[in-house]
Amino acid sequence: MNRTLIIVKPDGVARGLVGEVLHRMERRGLRLVEAELRTLDAATAARHYAEHEGRPYYDGLVSFITSGPVLVAVVEGPEDTWRMVRTMMGPTNPVDAPPGTIRGDLATVMAQNVIHGSDSAESAVREIGIFFPHLA
Ligand code: ATP
Ligand code: MG
Repeated sequence: MNRTLIIVKPDGVARGLVGEVLHRMERRGLRLVEAELRTLDAATAARHYAEHEGRPYYDGLVSFITSGPVLVAVVEGPEDTWRMVRTMMGPTNPVDAPPGTIRGDLATVMAQNVIHGSDSAESAVREIGIFFPHLA
């Protein structure tokens, strides 16, 4: 699977970072397959974050991701695209994210860490199916 799903989260859209994030992907050599600004409903957010259900931060996570428009996009690369994007994102907690990564350059707190990227080839297939079923 050489495609992966990214979401520029509500904080990233509100701060005007959509162009910055897409610019990094495109400069790297990844191709934009789909991109759309959407406000997620609770059911879609719950489906997307199903693995986190029951965690103490789950309610906050769902209310945050549905709090405003997000940019959902599919990017494509030659090989292990999900892993390349994860490397470009940096660790979940921006405190641990090195400079040069999206979170290391653009975020300070875990709850508002600018970007989501699929965390495995299987997740990429599942998540692309949620947001862009015609590509599945
Ligand atoms: P994402 O799925 O958003 O790309 P991630 O894969 O790096 O992030 P996950 O472990 O999937 O991290 O967590 C999903 C999101 O839930 C994180 O981006 C973060 O905002 C939030 N989160 C995860 N763990 C915690 C935690 N311990 N406390 C608070 N928020 C958390
Ligand atoms: Mg994740």
